[in-house]
Amino acid sequence: MTNIALIVAAGKGTRTGLDIPKQYIEIAGKTILRWTIEAFLQHPDIDAVQVVIAEDGRAQYAAATEGLSLLAPVIGGAERQESVWRGLEALLAHVPQYVVIHDAARPFVSGDLISRTLQALEAGAEAALPALSIADSLKSLEDGRIAGSLDRGRIVAAQTPQGFAFAPILAAHRTFAGEGLGDDTAVAERAGIEIVRIEGETGNIKITTPDDIATARQRIAGALTDVRTGFGFDVHAFTAGDGVWLGGIHIPHNAALKGHSDADVALHALTDALLGAIGAGDIGTYFPPSDTRWKGAPSDQFLTHAAGLIASRGGVIAHVDLTLICEAPRIGPHRAAMRERIAGLLGLPEDRVSIKGTTTEKLGFTGRQEGIAAQAVATVRLPE
Ligand code: MG
Repeated sequence: MTNIALIVAAGKGTRTGLDIPKQYIEIAGKTILRWTIEAFLQHPDIDAVQVVIAEDGRAQYAAATEGLSLLAPVIGGAERQESVWRGLEALLAHVPQYVVIHDAARPFVSGDLISRTLQALEAGAEAALPALSIADSLKSLEDGRIAGSLDRGRIVAAQTPQGFAFAPILAAHRTFAGEGLGDDTAVAERAGIEIVRIEGETGNIKITTPDDIATARQRIAGALTDVRTGFGFDVHAFTAGDGVWLGGIHIPHNAALKGHSDADVALHALTDALLGAIGAGDIGTYFPPSDTRWKGAPSDQFLTHAAGLIASRGGVIAHVDLTLICEAPRIGPHRAAMRERIAGLLGLPEDRVSIKGTTTEKLGFTGRQEGIAAQAVATVRLPE
């Protein structure tokens, strides 16, 4: 293993106005942290990704990174410098040649910028810093008043990923621990490491304020303009039993649902809605009832498979809406649990999951309590 990305996500930054750390804010169905991680995972020259997280961020991290192949997360320290140091110590076992250290709140890092950072290292630099020239004229302040003008030709704005030969940056962090230095090139400077400047990217913003969140939403939404809708429908009959699987949860009842799998009619309809949105066949295409592997199987895996197909096309699920049609069991008392479960399976916030129950006024097969029917609709956004 040679090139490792170290992503710093231990901060508590809440200047966005939301009461969660900014890296866990969701944009178009994914957290900012996940967008950032995926940029590095998708880069052909990055061999592994490790994230430094806050002690109390374990559950948020686990939810944000579900299904991704990452090195085990490292718990950070009180300050950024200590967090990175801990991350570097944990990487020692993987013997990296180069490490690129990146802010979790910069999800728009391009593959090209990662490539150019690595190329500078391969060309012999011990440290490489992407930085932007500043177009505005620069002034110094004293007590809130303009005190003078600065030469903007001598100033650049630093970004990440900051790239380093692994051994010298680890040594620098060990030597200058606890000095409260702002970023890793500041640590490198302190150690006398020569830093090569490469051109930064104006798009590589660090999400900090509510305006940044709005900009980020617009940029991501702008890239996912192919909006699709899919519909799903399913029916299962009642049989003898003492409960039903419905929406991924078990509900005690005076009957069970009959089927090859666990007969979760709600998840089957939802799975078909997701598959329908991307024109990818139906549930039987992937999980034929003739296959004994799916006998009695929990239906949650059908749903996550369909969600995975959408993710593999670079898409996101915007919304799902499920209607359960039966006289009994009553849906209302179980709606919250079902919603939480389905949101969890799809990696969506709960306000993107809707669950409704209705009856057919005792008419037809659902009215006679012979079975349960489910309808689902899903909205999916794909890249053009
Ligand atoms: Mg079915």
